[in-house]
Amino acid sequence: MFLRRRLLSTASAAAGAIRGPPPIRVALTESSSRGVFATRPVASGEHLHSAEPLLAHPSPSLHHEVCYSCLRRKAAGEERGSSGGGCYFCSDACKEHAKGFHDVGLSVDWSLFDDHCSSYEDLLSAAAASVSCDASVGNALYMLPSFYNHDCDPNTHIVWLENANMKLKALRDIEEGEELRICYIDTSMDVHARQKILADGFGFECRCLRCLSGD
Ligand SMILES: [Zn+2]
Ligand SMILES: [Zn+2]
Repeated sequence: MFLRRRLLSTASAAAGAIRGPPPIRVALTESSSRGVFATRPVASGEHLHSAEPLLAHPSPSLHHEVCYSCLRRKAAGEERGSSGGGCYFCSDACKEHAKGFHDVGLSVDWSLFDDHCSSYEDLLSAAAASVSCDASVGNALYMLPSFYNHDCDPNTHIVWLENANMKLKALRDIEEGEELRICYIDTSMDVHARQKILADGFGFECRCLRCLSGD
């Protein structure tokens, strides 16, 4: 299953330098699901790796303001126009990159699809987990980050800077062999709210240490 993250329009953390291959491996967990594990000790704040989306799509109301391909916001005063389909591309490279998907999107008779699904959102939701955020600019699908399991007290987090390319960073010191986990939802919610969102939106009962303690 792909992990879908709604993208924040702003993010503040700076990227750290990467030396050598990412210190991670994908392996089976004790419950036989997939997870991501550290291959060496990782220091708090360390940049683990970056990830580009397989597919990104701006929120429908932001087609003129957010790049259809990479979700970069249009700069103030930028003169670059929209394409024939009314969508904004921040560069020729982005326009070329999204060409196949964009052309198909323009040629499809979505009214037929609407008989079954009310929007693009439903299409994506059918195959992806989601995280809500008021400042989202679109949705994106990733491969490697989708292997990260959830924890309500995560040791890893995701940072987006100017576009849909994400960076994964350690939130605290991590031991070699420890599973790297991110939080799929807002960590500030209480245990009951977290359990409901995780069950309804992601289909599992969270049994992380924080939830088991009732925090
Ligand atoms: Zn772009
Ligand atoms: Zn939990």
